[in-house]
Amino acid sequence: MEHFDPVESLAAMRHEFGEHGGVNMSIETSTTFTVMKASTLPAIFHGQQGPEGGCYLYGRHFNPTVYVLGRQLAALEGAEAAYCTASGMSAISAALLQLCDHGDHIIASKTVYGGTFALLKEFLPAKAGIDVTFVDAFDLASVEEAFTDRTRVVYVETMSNPTLRVADVPRLADIAHARGARLVVDNTFCPLVVSPIRLGADVVVHSLTKFINGASDVIAGAVCGTTEFILSLMDLHKGALMLLGPTMDPRAAYEISMRLPHLGLRMAEHSRRALTFATRLRDHGLDVMYPGLADHPDHDLLRQLGNDEYGSGGVFTIDVGSSQKACELMEVLQNRDRFGFMAVSLGYFETLMTCPASSTSSEMSDDELRAAGIAPGLLRISVGYTGSVEQRWRQLEDALEIVGLGEHTDRAVLA
Ligand code: PLP
Repeated sequence: MEHFDPVESLAAMRHEFGEHGGVNMSIETSTTFTVMKASTLPAIFHGQQGPEGGCYLYGRHFNPTVYVLGRQLAALEGAEAAYCTASGMSAISAALLQLCDHGDHIIASKTVYGGTFALLKEFLPAKAGIDVTFVDAFDLASVEEAFTDRTRVVYVETMSNPTLRVADVPRLADIAHARGARLVVDNTFCPLVVSPIRLGADVVVHSLTKFINGASDVIAGAVCGTTEFILSLMDLHKGALMLLGPTMDPRAAYEISMRLPHLGLRMAEHSRRALTFATRLRDHGLDVMYPGLADHPDHDLLRQLGNDEYGSGGVFTIDVGSSQKACELMEVLQNRDRFGFMAVSLGYFETLMTCPASSTSSEMSDDELRAAGIAPGLLRISVGYTGSVEQRWRQLEDALEIVGLGEHTDRAVLA
């Protein structure tokens, strides 16, 4: 496979200067745009002219600042084009509604983010007549068996939330394409770590709210794909993004764009720390899941599919046996040791901890949680990079001792 480095791809893009030659791009706040000739407006409405030729119409359609961020994300994902949305959920729902009509069918992984699960299980079938079959996406035979004549999309997360299984994107793409379907991949958990479009995926969706923005201060999303697909989403008469209108604010686009240059450094550090803690916790005898550990079921697959420089991602899980124990541990880690925050979301510079069964995956029933491998005591930890590694490790060890999960718990229970 041809070498691809997402950071090199971003750096190779034309630099976007500000209006007065500033080294940063300007924020274009106008919601409507003028033209010099009256005939230009109908040409834009008919799709004959557009942002690639510098012609803008209206902010919900294309905004210059949001358009630049889209081009930057397309470069990062190795896609032809991308466009940004007001949230990850709006990117996912618009992409799926664009690809599926009433009566069509989606095959989806049964381990996906709880909001996506609810969209697929309840919302799309009830509101849009789109059928969804949930499968074990890590068992390719069960994906193949689920196809119907109306299957238009296979939907997976590159690294599943919260179980951290890795999708075999090239083989899933082959299976989908052989049946005339598209592979849509949510790459929120591992930007830069894996580049699904380079591996055969047709569409990549992102919650930019997470690692890509990295500061837990903006809700945002993106859809990446072919130019044809992105233009279809923005079609003035038939485009799901254009007509449903989950538009990104240009100020948010500017903020996120300013954080892309250090995404590579951040991802490498999130991954380095996650690997350090996961390895040491495993040495303590804890039940840790992290794709960077050699005994993870998808360790070899990730090494084969992943880009070398950015590690195995910034999230690991520990199953501490019960939700009560998970809550106890999180409380000590936050309130006593200042290790991180009990909060949903991930990809922040501080560590974030949640118990998915009772929070981010609470849309699922007990049976669905069990089928997805989400145990009640599963703790999801998105590793931040503030403080030193050894300082954070001491806090983690200390908290484990206090809640009776430490290596030396029988000898010393700390006050
Ligand atoms: N995809 C994944 C994997 C997520 O974890 C989330 C949110 O947690 C989303 C999508 C939704 O993103 P947003 O909250 O930006 O709408």
